[in-house]
Amino acid sequence: MSVFNLRSFKNHENVVFCSDEATGMKAIIAVHSTALGPSAGGCRFWDYTAVHKHAPHDVCQDRAEEDALYDVLRLSRGMSFKNAMAGLRLGGGKAVIIGNPRKLESPELAYAFGLAIQRLGGAYYTAEDVGTSPKFLADVAKNCSYVSGLEDGPFATGDPSPHTAIGVYEGIKAAVRHKHGKSELKGLHIAIQGVGNVGGYLAKHLLKDGAIITIADINQDNINRVLSYGPASVVPTQQIHSTECDIFSPCALGGGLNDSSLPEIKASIIAGAANNQLESEGIHDEMLRQRGILYAPDYVINAGGIISIESEIYKEKLDDGARLAKVLRIGETLTSIFKESDKQKLPTGIIANEMAENIIAKAKENKKASAA
Ligand code: NAD
Repeated sequence: MSVFNLRSFKNHENVVFCSDEATGMKAIIAVHSTALGPSAGGCRFWDYTAVHKHAPHDVCQDRAEEDALYDVLRLSRGMSFKNAMAGLRLGGGKAVIIGNPRKLESPELAYAFGLAIQRLGGAYYTAEDVGTSPKFLADVAKNCSYVSGLEDGPFATGDPSPHTAIGVYEGIKAAVRHKHGKSELKGLHIAIQGVGNVGGYLAKHLLKDGAIITIADINQDNINRVLSYGPASVVPTQQIHSTECDIFSPCALGGGLNDSSLPEIKASIIAGAANNQLESEGIHDEMLRQRGILYAPDYVINAGGIISIESEIYKEKLDDGARLAKVLRIGETLTSIFKESDKQKLPTGIIANEMAENIIAKAKENKKASAA
């Protein structure tokens, strides 16, 4: 398999394949950029074979590895952009462990993974992502100094979700201000797709502001939790994106903004936490722009969690007020993207990518200049 010629390969600094025979660990760590600081991004533990299970065994394994590589390359670059746009002293990286965490996860595998990160000498800091748990991270940290988002320890920042939710809430207000010239959410109707950690906290903030909410989730417990916060309409998951509403907030999985969902969206704003909401960057955000729908780029609006984690990586104590102030800047960043998008008549996703690339390029130049 060629790596350098892949479309998802974008001048990544390091792509490391790690394995441990005893535990069955197969992982890929991608460091996209360390121009702004050590690379940081979560570890995804995912069964990449599941979608190829009908193919012959060898073909299934090859395709799963290709998918994992595609994921880690794309996600690590996304982390570079997210961290740059959030003004953090962090570069972008990501790790994927190939396999079903329910079958494969063990403390021994976590230790082996920790050793693999340790060997990179601090170029990559890991954190929680889909398929990994606080317990798994704590096990990784037993063999590794480069783990963030821990629950215990002198600089531990814990669950990033409440900070992500505050950032999304602030981003929604910035989008409403830009689109409708007001920042009040009272009476506005927001449809939330997925009310897990982030979507649940977000619903709470919105209800407190007097917003009307409609929710959908495949998990009834999570729906019930939101219903205990206040009134909410519940719709089937297949209908949430087409709800007649002001704002659609994807807070479940990525790829939801695509050829089939876009024509059905009735909201004038899309602003939510899910990563990789656009199936195709530059295509689906342009379709949204042409339809007059304001799209808040996902990696900008959902940066609250990594903003909260930065202090842990730098072993700094940050009080709650200072942390919140940093997260609230997401609103200003989005406003500058929205304005630039209007000015250049380009989709917000493309504008955000250009801004992030400029920040990273400048940091690289500065590093080169100070090394000379
Ligand atoms: P979560 O797993 O706690 O919540 C996701 C929710 O979506 C769950 O309740 C799940 O049942 C639901 N869901 C799954 N498929 C669905 C579907 N088809 N329709 C409706 N609901 C569905 O995850 P989370 O931590 O709340 O993160 C949500 C999204 O935000 C993810 O895409 C994640 O990558 C992204 N994100 C999270 C953070 C964070 O701090 N947690 C930070 C940045 C980005």
